[in-house]
Amino acid sequence: MAGETTIQIEKSLSPESLALIQKAGHLAAERRLGIYLVGGVVRDILLGRANSDLDLVVEDNAVDLAEALAKEMGGRIVVHRRFGTAKIRTENMVVDVAMARAESYARPGALPTVRPGSIRDDLARRDFTVNAMALRLDPGNFGALVDPFGGQKDLESRLIRILHDRSFIDDATRMLRAVRYEQRFGFRLEASTEDLLRQNVTMLRTISGDRIRHELELILKEECPEKALKRAGDLGLLDEVHPALKDDGQLKEIFEKARETASPPSPALYFVLMTYRFSLTECEDFVARLKVPGTISRVILDTARLRERIPSLDSPDLSPSAAYGLLREYSPTSVLACAIAADSALVQERLHLYLNRWRHVRTSLDGNALHKMGVPSGPRLGGMLKALHEAKLDGRIGSKEDETELVQRWLSQGR
Ligand code: ATP
Ligand code: MG
Repeated sequence: MAGETTIQIEKSLSPESLALIQKAGHLAAERRLGIYLVGGVVRDILLGRANSDLDLVVEDNAVDLAEALAKEMGGRIVVHRRFGTAKIRTENMVVDVAMARAESYARPGALPTVRPGSIRDDLARRDFTVNAMALRLDPGNFGALVDPFGGQKDLESRLIRILHDRSFIDDATRMLRAVRYEQRFGFRLEASTEDLLRQNVTMLRTISGDRIRHELELILKEECPEKALKRAGDLGLLDEVHPALKDDGQLKEIFEKARETASPPSPALYFVLMTYRFSLTECEDFVARLKVPGTISRVILDTARLRERIPSLDSPDLSPSAAYGLLREYSPTSVLACAIAADSALVQERLHLYLNRWRHVRTSLDGNALHKMGVPSGPRLGGMLKALHEAKLDGRIGSKEDETELVQRWLSQGR
């Protein structure tokens, strides 16, 4: 089964990763088990790109081997016995260890049924040829390439190719994965892969909201997510995810601005920017369809509401305290999204001022201090604190002495 080619793994991995896979190779050899490095890290080794996520596949019992490995290397292990998988985390690495599996799909979009299999079976269930390669780790064949689908050749030709014609039907999330890898590496979809993708875009309807959202999140973690989103839009995939999710060409500019403003932008910020032009109803529909978790969905809806207030924020004589009063009920991520995506320069400036300055403004005097100065507790005290804060926001007072003086004036006026 060993390929003709042996890869010089030593050059591409950190010393720590290398030590770990060598150890894994020895432990597996002692137990007479086949063990392989698989998937993305193999692709990245061949591309000369760094990758610290190690995926190991063991033919047969992976969990026992993972436990032995964690013991030798140090690191926390989490075992999923039912799936025959384990995850080991060390300070700098995440290592997934799984039993080699064969799988079949009961119906499109369903999660596959799996059973123990060979490394070839395990590679055959994968998404693209460039992700379906393995490297042997047994000491006698360390680094031998296992490449049953021509992944190495496709890497050289810079192509993303599915393994069989039903691939997108079995699992339509692969369509979003395909554009993500294509755009990350500057590859092309291989011609018949692209044809099959175009023919099967509606298969995305078979995928649960959670799984689609997960793929979108992966896209948003890319260095330039807008590239994959643009391509997904051109191929008709975004329309299937949600009809409002067209890439109208503005995303590139907005995402670039987001990267200049927040480096790197959080997936939450990208998510909100992606839905920035949606109406409130479209936002509600979108978060329901994609089962967007509470924290992010609140920010998406908040942003849609804040967008409706933008005309008031655009008025030239709005005071800082009035702007503050308007903005304080919205989440900072919503304000940031609008600061990035709003059309008006004045609004952008105000929102940035709010985020960087106004929202941090505090008075020197607090309730206690006012009480000591003779202000009775109750609404009067609350009102005075608010007025003091506004005076400070608007620059009418600066120092603690200014504040004291103002409160004394108010008291003498019987306010
Ligand atoms: P990345 O650099 O984005 O992490 P990766 O190749 O490591 O790329 P993962 O999402 O970590 O991608 O998945 C690990 C491997 O699992 C992939 O290389 C691929 O072989 C396989 N895989 C993941 N998702 C699918 C899928 N939907 N269908 C088939 N194979 C998949
Ligand atoms: Mg990975």
